Amino acid sequence: MEEHWHSTLDELRQKLSAESFVTWLEPLRFDSFDGKRVRVRIPNRFYADWIRTHYLELILDALRSRSSEGELEIDWEVDTSLEAHTDQPGGSSGRERSSSAPPAASAPPSRPSGPPSATNLNPKYRFENFVVGPSNQLAHAAAIAAASSPGTRYNPLFIYGGVGLGKTHLVNAVGHRILQDQPQARILYVSAERFTNEFIWALQNHRINEFRDRYRNQCDALLMDDIQFLASREQTQEEFFHTFNALYHSDKQIVVSSDVYPQQIGKMEERLVSRFQWGMVADVQAPELDTRVAIVKKKAEQEGIAMSNEVANFLAQTVKTNVRELEGTLLRLAVKAELMKRPIDIEFAKEALRTQLPKQDAAISVDDVQRAVCEYFNIKLADLKSHRRHRSLAHPRMIAMYLCRQRLHTSYTELGERFGGKDHTTVISAVRKIESRIDSEDAELRQSIDAIEHKLARR
Ligand code: ADP
Ligand code: MG
Repeated sequence: MEEHWHSTLDELRQKLSAESFVTWLEPLRFDSFDGKRVRVRIPNRFYADWIRTHYLELILDALRSRSSEGELEIDWEVDTSLEAHTDQPGGSSGRERSSSAPPAASAPPSRPSGPPSATNLNPKYRFENFVVGPSNQLAHAAAIAAASSPGTRYNPLFIYGGVGLGKTHLVNAVGHRILQDQPQARILYVSAERFTNEFIWALQNHRINEFRDRYRNQCDALLMDDIQFLASREQTQEEFFHTFNALYHSDKQIVVSSDVYPQQIGKMEERLVSRFQWGMVADVQAPELDTRVAIVKKKAEQEGIAMSNEVANFLAQTVKTNVRELEGTLLRLAVKAELMKRPIDIEFAKEALRTQLPKQDAAISVDDVQRAVCEYFNIKLADLKSHRRHRSLAHPRMIAMYLCRQRLHTSYTELGERFGGKDHTTVISAVRKIESRIDSEDAELRQSIDAIEHKLARR
């Protein structure tokens, strides 16, 4: 029966919206079966009622179609350990976490690590596996500070930034760190969408006191993800406002994430916006190349995926949009390698990611790079290829050599020839020089290179 239960949930995962599934079904835990009644554990009483009215028929239909047991019924049992702060590793806590298959194969690409469970903190999102770089340093430091002395200086902590840049990861990490120091702390991690759903449901079902008690009194730290969802939802904003005040005035830590800066959340009440700024506001930006490389390496290590630095670099260079995308690409690559029984080397990676590479890439030539560099620095092609050593020419020349080497893998000897007949050692030292300046975080250089690459991509 337990198997039927899991495959039923898998079926519903496909049928329902991700948010509904994550909110209402994912937290459920199969407990036992006595031949007629399936016992399922739920985090609190809200679930039983909500599921009865919304999902029970679906669940029963799917279960019945799988089992030969005839009439089935479900008993709900409240198990508060499923609430907010338990991680429930292994045990009966769900297939994904107790699976013992090799990591690369056990994680289907579409949901690499399983979405954060609704009531639990996501066990994978900890400070220990968050890679820090210039793009997220501030938010990371603020999150650590808030977690180390909750309810004090960094209260509330407001983290904002684009999709897939680590907000949810940081918000969860705060929860884990608080628990590490204070195991009894009651941590509530909730998406604003879920908060809204629960609130509406509580209103409709005359359970608002219970709802308020949970959020205002039974909570030592409230971690509210994706607050932008409250835009235009006046009544929920009002409720959240009072929740906020109650917690704030009893020195409970509040962490809020949003995909935009507080003032930019459309139709958000001014008094809430201003409260968000009482504590600390920190942003996460898209990570730079080095950070992306470090993230790929860390993730590969975590998932037991063997790959060279070269491949890690290649991935990080290819996928620039956001970290989620980067992770997804890595996992897809691993699954593909496993299926095709091939090692993840650079050839395989290039082959596998061909569709993802900027299309023009293949067509770019040494000439293109030279032209783009000349355009950017506003110099003549003849000067770029000349032997003149003035910085205004030598600098673009080195960048052009570096880009050719990096993007086209042209040999040093050939590059020497293409740059007006220079010795290959000259090319090598130019490429090294640029590499070391990139390593030392030369912001101006990075900007030039980004701009030139941008030109190349639009060719
Ligand atoms: P957001 O909430 O901002 O949309 P997430 O926190 O869900 O983004 O991050 C997307 C994925 O990328 C997650 O799997 C997360 O662990 C990972 N991730 C993001 N930033 C980092 C980082 N700096 N180090 C390690 N993993 C990261
Ligand atoms: Mg998120």
